[in-house]
Amino acid sequence: MKDKLGEDIFSKEEGSFIETEREVMGRKFERKIEDFSCENCGTFVNGDGYTDHCPSCLYSKHVDINPGDRDCECKGLMEPIAAEVRDNGYKIHYRCLDCGYTHRVKSSPEDNFEAILALIDKPVVNT
Ligand SMILES: [Zn+2]
Ligand SMILES: [Zn+2]
Repeated sequence: MKDKLGEDIFSKEEGSFIETEREVMGRKFERKIEDFSCENCGTFVNGDGYTDHCPSCLYSKHVDINPGDRDCECKGLMEPIAAEVRDNGYKIHYRCLDCGYTHRVKSSPEDNFEAILALIDKPVVNT
């Protein structure tokens, strides 16, 4: 009986610790974490709050007005059209297939390196 009581107290303490952690996380990090399936190649992408493009074929979606806000109504498929080498990675240039909007994002470490390489030689279109 003594052992069981001890166990109960322990798990109660652990429970409240976890709850406190969660509360702090919820307040400090307001990233929007979304999983999505790539509309170009079908790869399932586990969102981490930063990933906005497919790590396999690099296609993205036109969802942001400002980076990360997800406020754009377009939702068109963004085609990777070129890439630039930067000190700490690559910048991928995109063009929206629906509305023609262009923007650049930093590549992520998970991105398919071959797919980035294939974009390096393409001319960067400045609009
Ligand atoms: Zn894809
Ligand atoms: Zn668009």
